[in-house]
Parts: sequence; C-alpha cells; structure tokens
Amino acid sequence: MEKIDLIKIDCPICGIDTPYDVKYEANFKLDELDFAAKKTSKHMYFRNVKCKKCNLIYSNPIIPFEQIKKFYQATYFLELNQLEIMANDYEKLFYKYIPNISENTNVLEVGCANGLFLKRLQNRGIKNFKGIEPSREAYSVTDNLIKPNIINDFLGDNLFKDNSFDAVCSFQTFDHVLEPNDFLQKINKYIKPGGYFLQVHHNVNSLLPTLLGSKASTFDVEHIHLWSPKTMRLILKKNGFEVIKIKNISTGYLFEHALERLPLFTLLKKNLIKLSKWFKLNELTIRFPIENMVIVSQKKVV
Ligand SMILES: [Zn+2]
Repeated sequence: MEKIDLIKIDCPICGIDTPYDVKYEANFKLDELDFAAKKTSKHMYFRNVKCKKCNLIYSNPIIPFEQIKKFYQATYFLELNQLEIMANDYEKLFYKYIPNISENTNVLEVGCANGLFLKRLQNRGIKNFKGIEPSREAYSVTDNLIKPNIINDFLGDNLFKDNSFDAVCSFQTFDHVLEPNDFLQKINKYIKPGGYFLQVHHNVNSLLPTLLGSKASTFDVEHIHLWSPKTMRLILKKNGFEVIKIKNISTGYLFEHALERLPLFTLLKKNLIKLSKWFKLNELTIRFPIENMVIVSQKKVV
C-alpha cells in the first residue's frame, strides 16, 4: 500500500479545535486495515480521543476519507444467519416505534447491506421503499425483487426530492459515518417534516465497552465516532431533529458469532467454537443488552 498520511478529526458537536483527552492510543497496522462489516481475528482501532466539552469519543487522527470510502465499497463480509437475526430485530423495532405505518408509508434505509430489512417491509406490504448501500458485494447479493429500489453508493445530494420520506432508518451505520453533521443534514432534507428517524447502533456507555475497555469490539477502525445517549441528543438536535426516545436494547447473536467477538485467546476461542459446533450450539441465538441502543427522533416541524 502507498504511504498514507493520517488526517485530523474535530468533534462534530463542538467544532474545530475543541480540546480533547487521549482515551486509547492507536492500535492498527496500515497494511492490515480492512473494513469488512464483521470480522473475526484482527482487532484494530485508531487513536481514540474524548472531547473535553461534550465527552464524545471519536477516532483521531484517521486515514483520509477517500481511502476509507474505497474500503467500504470493496469489502463486505456477509454472515447471512447473523444478518437475518439482526433484520428480525430491526423489523420489530420499526413496527414498535414508527406510528401509523401503512402500505403507503415511504421508507428509506441508509446502509441497507443486502436488503434483508427492506425485504421484510416488502413482505409486509410496504410498497414505497428505497435503500442506499455503498458495498458492491452487499448490493450484488441483494434480492432481485428489491434491487431496483437500492442505490449502490454513499448517501449523497439530490438522490431524492426534499421531504420525500415518512420514515428513515439507519442500522449499525451512524458510528461508521465520516461526517455526521453532513449525513444528518442530508437525511433531514429527505425526510418529511414530522417524519421519523430510527437508528440502532453502539452505545459507548453500555456494558461491553465499559467492562472490556479498548478490548471491546466497540473500539474499531470502522467506528469513527462512538455515541452515547447524551451525544446522540446533542448531534441530532444540532441537525434539526427532536429526540423521542433513546433506549438500550437487547441484540440477538448467534452463539458462534458472540464467541468470536469475545476477547479470548485465539486457541481457546477456536476450541470453544469447535465444541459449540459439536454440540450444535453454534446456531443457537442468545440475546444480550450489552452494546446497542435504539434512537427514535423526529424531523422538527418549522
Ligand atoms: Zn465535543
């Protein structure tokens, strides 16, 4: 790989040159970086800092945005069973938190992977849905019935008319976003006034990162900003959203997947995974409220 100069990141809530403390020193090798959505062995993260004003934890410095975007377009590790479990969870949350859903509800999902969640909405009769997904591989394995509704790119300007959607969803995406204000501004434009924005992603104050520190998979080169309920309120408010609800949620994990994410010695882990396969535990789903939160907000009516 060619030589890459790292770039400085500012707190997206407090702005340029707001002072910070270093939380964890960097732990990565440039030539081993990869941005697959789920991976097993290498645990790498950029230097993590904590804003002195709002306490946001974020990666700084990082490799240039263009380089990261190339990674996202080129890589995606699809673990189908795990994605199905996640899509089930998202479907339940959607029907729980978005009011008045009908077959005419206009839905956009940003970061829709291989479209499993949108497929579920379609099965439930929702006709007007769009998805955005930058990974070429995830797009290539998207169901042909919904593929025409997916844009294989990053969230950009003028993809849709302003005020197009009743609900926008974004699952395990916001901590990967390079420019959170720009991202939220775009979503705010596309969503109808009073329309809903449903997010699920890591809560940096949840049990796993609190217990394991930098050993938690929360700290990862993919996660540029690590949000808490407090910093989510601040960034959403800054970009024209009113927060309705923020809540820690249980996430379903395949037993094998959960094992892979634990910071165990490689040999021990390998043997545990073998053992779980032997006892057919590997396809068991277990649920823990240890790392994720749901955030429901609404575009302010001006
Ligand atoms: Zn800040």
